Amino acid sequence: MPKVLVATEKPFAAKAAGLIKAELEAAKYDYEFLENYTEVSQLHAALADAEAVIIRSDIIDEAALNAAPKLKLVVRAGAGYDNVDLKAASAKGVVVMNTPGQNSNAVAELAIGMMIYMARNKFNGKSGSELAGKSLVLYGFGYVARYLAKIAKGFGMDIYAYDPYIACEIMTKDGVKPLKSVAEIFSTGDYVSLHIPATAETKGSINWSLMSLMKPGATLINTARKEVINETDLLRCFEENKKFRYVSDVEPGCSAEMMEKYGDRAYYTPKKMGAQTEEANANAGVAAAKQIIAFFEKGDKTFKVN
Ligand code: NAD
Repeated sequence: MPKVLVATEKPFAAKAAGLIKAELEAAKYDYEFLENYTEVSQLHAALADAEAVIIRSDIIDEAALNAAPKLKLVVRAGAGYDNVDLKAASAKGVVVMNTPGQNSNAVAELAIGMMIYMARNKFNGKSGSELAGKSLVLYGFGYVARYLAKIAKGFGMDIYAYDPYIACEIMTKDGVKPLKSVAEIFSTGDYVSLHIPATAETKGSINWSLMSLMKPGATLINTARKEVINETDLLRCFEENKKFRYVSDVEPGCSAEMMEKYGDRAYYTPKKMGAQTEEANANAGVAAAKQIIAFFEKGDKTFKVN
C-alpha cells in the first residue's frame, strides 16, 4: 500500500491529525507524521520512501524532490501552493494538488474581523464607523472572496468584484457587482480586499498607481500574500493618504517603519492566521488524505495544479 508522509513544520491541530490518520487507516495506507521539524534535512530524509506527501507551508523544491525517488503526489493542504516548485515536480512526473475551498470560510471570517477592528479604531475607546452601507471590493473572486461576499452581505455592505477569469454572471448571481478594470477596484472601495494569488503577474502589482486611487480613509485588506504589495508604495500611500488604513494577515517586510510611523492605521497578524482554525485544519487535512486515496485508487487528478 502507498506510504504517505505528513510533513508539517507547523503541525495540524490534534483533531485534524486524528482525522487524517483515520482516513489513511481506513484505506489501509502506511503513513508517517513528521511534525515540528527544525532542519530541512529531516524533511528530505523522511521523503526517501514516501509515495505521497501532505504538506502545509513546507517547502517542496527541487532538492526535496531529488530526495524523494518514489514520490508520485504532493498535496498542499490549503489553497496557495507557491511553496512547491511546480516546474521541478512536473519534470519528475510528480503530480501536485491543493485543497481549494477548505479553509476559505476561516480566511473570510478573519478578513471581516480585521475590518471591524480597524473600523472601531482597534477598540481604543474612540468612536469608530460601521461596515453597513460601505462598499467592499474583492480583487479576485475565488473561494475566499465568495465566502467573504456572503458574510459581508449580512453586514449590509455594497459588494463589488474584479476577476478577469470569472464570468460576470457568477458574481451577479451572488449579489456582487462586477467591475471592469483594476483601477476601478481601488477607486470604488471603502474596503478593498485582496484575493489574488502571488504569481509573476501579480507580485508587486499593488503599487502607487493603484493605491493612489484609493478614497481618503479607505482600508486595504490583505489576506492573500505579502508579495503582491509594493511596500515602498504602501508606505507612500500611508504618508499621502492621511486616513488610509492597511491590515494584513502576515507581517509585511516594512512592518517596523509602518508601525512606528502609522501604527494607529495599520495592523498585521503576528503569524499567518487566516487558515488557523480547528475547522479549516480538519477540512483541509481530511480533503488532502481523501485526494491521495482517490488518486491511487482511481487515478483522480481533480485538484492537480501542475
Ligand atoms: P482561488 O484560487 O479560489 O481564487 C483566486 C482567484 O484569483 C481566482 O478566481 C482567479 O481567477 C483570480 N485571479 C488570478 N489572477 C488574477 C489576476 N491577475 N487578477 C484578478 N484575479 C485573478 O484562491 P482562494 O482560495 O480564494 O485564495 C485567494 C488568495 O488567498 C490566494 O493567494 C491564497 O494564497 C491566499 N490565501 C491565504 C490564506 C491565509 O491563511 N491568509 C488562506 C487561504 C488562501
